[in-house]
Amino acid sequence: MIIKLQAGINHTHHQHLLDAIGNKGFKVNEIKTQTSTYLVCIGKAEVDLRTFGHMPGISDIFHVSDEYKLVSRKWKTNYTQIDLGDNVIIGDGNLSIMAGPCSIENEQQVLNTIQHLKDNNVKIMRGGVFKPRSSPYAFRGLGIDGLKMWYQLCKENGIKIITEVMQVSQITDMYEYVDVFQVGARNTQNFNLLDELGKVDKPVMIKRGISGTIEELLYSAEYVFSAGNEKIVLCERGIRTYEKASRNTFDINAIPLLKDKTHLPVIADPSHGIGIREFVEPIALAAAVAGADGIIYETHEIPEKAASDGQQTLNFAESAQLIRKLNSLSAIRD
Ligand code: PEP
Ligand code: MN
Repeated sequence: MIIKLQAGINHTHHQHLLDAIGNKGFKVNEIKTQTSTYLVCIGKAEVDLRTFGHMPGISDIFHVSDEYKLVSRKWKTNYTQIDLGDNVIIGDGNLSIMAGPCSIENEQQVLNTIQHLKDNNVKIMRGGVFKPRSSPYAFRGLGIDGLKMWYQLCKENGIKIITEVMQVSQITDMYEYVDVFQVGARNTQNFNLLDELGKVDKPVMIKRGISGTIEELLYSAEYVFSAGNEKIVLCERGIRTYEKASRNTFDINAIPLLKDKTHLPVIADPSHGIGIREFVEPIALAAAVAGADGIIYETHEIPEKAASDGQQTLNFAESAQLIRKLNSLSAIRD
């Protein structure tokens, strides 16, 4: 059960409500977010909502049978939109495109990418400055100085930034230079990181864990929401299966399933999802048709020279073609 409190509920009404819910055997979690205060009530008892519904101080009351609560669509039937400012909105019914290199490498690369994005009316640039690499000897990113350089160029060109935060200690340093914090697949269940991102007033995109279930992804989102941040985006990026023909197995099922289970926007990452450059386009198109709210993919002027993930990175001509095709799908998606 979720109870949304009226703003400014007085102390007496608040206490009466907590007592009444507690007396029915529920454990109450009080959650304050950027916009509202909720009582998330966990208990086994079947309860008639009218038991509490009349009590003063309640704005709305919902029965939510799912184990995850605040991210469930059972109480919030209208989908959440994430507003990045300057009319860049994720989840407004249009397909959000986020493109850029796997890793931010240098100023020239950033400038080239920004020009490519502007030429194709793309408003959000992806890229990593803190890179989770399987090998400690691989390129691990330019770090905070790289982020500052990237931010400056994006700011001058009206482009938003989505980038991965790998640990709690980076959040404060990155905050000013980031439009969306990305939680990578290796950190989906880093609950300390999720808790801390719940205290931040910036959107967070959580990638599905490498071997994570859909339910685990939803629980990760519940961590962020219940710590106070409602601005959450989910990302299907493929999972590890017994199949060896592709880097990961992109789970197309996850797109409609997530759209059914949660009110949060769902983004598809076909680059990591299949890991093979020539097949990124069909997977991206399939995800768009399946109902994704956006596509995030890797592009680089010369993929063969990319510092990381070149094998799954589109060149700018391929990227432009993908964008054209994605845009032409809008009729099917309506
Ligand atoms: C990335 O986006 O470059 C990345 C490392 O993704 P993931 O966490 O999905 O592997
Ligand atoms: Mn990558």
